[in-house]
Amino acid sequence: MRNQIAAANWKMNLTYQQGMSLLQTLVSADISLKKNHKAVFSVPFPYLEMAIATTRNKEDYFIAAQNCSDKKSGAYTGEVSAEMLKSLGVQYCLVGHSERREYFGESNLMLADKLNFCLSFDITPIFCCGEALVTREANKQNGYVEQQLRESLFHLSKDEIIKIVIAYEPIWAIGTGKTASTEQAQEMHAHIRSVLKKQYGEPIAEQISILYGGSVKASNAKEIFGSKDVDGGLVGGASLIATEFVEIIKALK
Ligand code: PEP
Repeated sequence: MRNQIAAANWKMNLTYQQGMSLLQTLVSADISLKKNHKAVFSVPFPYLEMAIATTRNKEDYFIAAQNCSDKKSGAYTGEVSAEMLKSLGVQYCLVGHSERREYFGESNLMLADKLNFCLSFDITPIFCCGEALVTREANKQNGYVEQQLRESLFHLSKDEIIKIVIAYEPIWAIGTGKTASTEQAQEMHAHIRSVLKKQYGEPIAEQISILYGGSVKASNAKEIFGSKDVDGGLVGGASLIATEFVEIIKALK
């Protein structure tokens, strides 16, 4: 049975005190998770240690970084390496969020290096992919996402690919209040799984969790997560509100 994951992405929001208070509320929320359910919190770098300590007693809660360097170590002022994250006890890391691709020029090849470093330090990468509106309007989304997967992931061995999580996030649905329809989400998730199957075989493709991201909220999570190939969500805005994110976690199938 695939892992079903509700992953929060706080982005550059909340003060330290607000973040701690949000996590404390979520830790004490009455949620009964199934064995294959996980909640992941992608918090800003300076909050990682606090977030790990605050969620320490919740075995289904995990802490993620929002990014890591594509370099191992050295003279890269302002960067944070996968090894540093590991030394703090970070378990997950977002890789290739569309905001990183757009504002910080992250290429598919650079992301391949980030994935390698995460895996070599036993950090689970949540690899983000997804097309812009112009690509969707030209009906070229399948080829576009396939190329993202091919250039960033397909150098990985079977043993490695099985350790990653994929998040499909159509850029036109991120922070816009627009969600992909359940049909659009399921269609793309099935496509991603078929691309993985072609490259790695069915047993591997069937084990990889594929999350949907783009304006997921309490009111639409159950419907979106209900599709066969959608294994939870990566959530921005709604993950900053405790009552919303509790309902999103509860919507995992
Ligand atoms: C995201 O940041 O990954 C995201 C999906 O944001 P939002 O839920 O706000 O659209």
